Amino acid sequence: MRVTIHRGTHQIGGCVTEIEHERYKVFIDFGTPLPGSGGGKLFPIEGLTTGDVSRSALFISHYHGDHIGNVCEVSNELPVFIGKTAYQIYESLEKRLSHIPDLEQAEVHRSIARHMQSFRTFTPLDTLEIGTISVTPLMVDHSAIDAYMFLIQAGGTRLLHTGDFRLHGFRGRALPNVIRRYAQNIDYVITEGTNINRPKAANLDEHTLQKYFKEEFRKHKYNFVVISTTNIDRIFAIYHAASESNRHFICDNYQKKIIQLISNSPEWTSPLYRIPTRIYTPGKTSDKKMFFSERLTRLLNRDGFCMLVRAGDMFKEFMNRYDDSNESAVYYSMYRGYLDKGHLSYNRQLEQFLSHRNPIYMHTSGHCDIKSLDKVLNLIKPKRGIIPIHTEYPEKFTEIFGKIAPIILLDDKETLNCTVHD
Ligand SMILES: [Zn+2]
Ligand SMILES: [Zn+2]
Repeated sequence: MRVTIHRGTHQIGGCVTEIEHERYKVFIDFGTPLPGSGGGKLFPIEGLTTGDVSRSALFISHYHGDHIGNVCEVSNELPVFIGKTAYQIYESLEKRLSHIPDLEQAEVHRSIARHMQSFRTFTPLDTLEIGTISVTPLMVDHSAIDAYMFLIQAGGTRLLHTGDFRLHGFRGRALPNVIRRYAQNIDYVITEGTNINRPKAANLDEHTLQKYFKEEFRKHKYNFVVISTTNIDRIFAIYHAASESNRHFICDNYQKKIIQLISNSPEWTSPLYRIPTRIYTPGKTSDKKMFFSERLTRLLNRDGFCMLVRAGDMFKEFMNRYDDSNESAVYYSMYRGYLDKGHLSYNRQLEQFLSHRNPIYMHTSGHCDIKSLDKVLNLIKPKRGIIPIHTEYPEKFTEIFGKIAPIILLDDKETLNCTVHD
């Protein structure tokens, strides 16, 4: 078995991993690098974007753009595998983006949506064989729902690719048992290291964050939460926090569809995904303003509400109506870096949307912190090495986790021979 990290040894987004055995190839993820992170185009990659793809396949760990965003650049005949719910969420996201007329990227999103029609879905724990390489998806908790690690076996070598994961989400506690059961006797781990240099990024767990939301919603009558439409577990947590605080829950139609996609799915059975109380969605006037019927407006203003919002004129106009109320609050439930002018991932539109609103920061990372990474790596105890990716500081692994197993620091495009000779 040979491993090549085409991109991602020294950056957070845009990872592409290749596992090759007897000319069969399994690729994990093909994302877009985060803005400003460097890492240019990757062309061509034999078996992925060019050449004979009849012996290869691409597995997508989850639907975040930094893992799937470049997928329309793969050869048309290449089989692409993704989780079923991840597929549905990403498809609806791409369809929505491809309908925003003034968006420069609309054509890219249309192209991704077209490309996705040929995707295949996998089921957790169902092993797929790509020639001599077998791939078993193991579900993890992340800020994207339906996210996976992959156990990969070929020619006697067992490798675990972690994708993005964490232990401090609602479903995070399941992972140690999954590892004990399915990921033992591992030779190599390819692991994400997003938070290796951010000791405070995951101080809160999602349960505690939900509790804070509940306290805030009780204090404030009109609540506006800025959050990514696909941070599913957080969105359901906020929904329940609103409902338990007797505030009505409002979101737009697109967000409601995503919520219903999960709550109606037989695969997501946790009480977290049930929606016993009503979700209100605003109508749209001809001059693109949000409105509710008079009766509903009275109800919302009487009892208070929690509304999920995104940067955009319609949400802005609606929020402006409550600007003078001392009972309203705005919460920012996303990565802080997007609002920081000095940061590579600075998002001007988002920052301006929030600039005069003084949002309350309510967030915790989608990635594991150092402590949980330590726990997971100790549970896996790889026999031959740990390969860090999805991090800006791979060398930190040597200092922090060097005792668990040898840390193998690769450069982009460098190939490591992982053949195990017993
Ligand atoms: Zn992710
Ligand atoms: Zn990522």
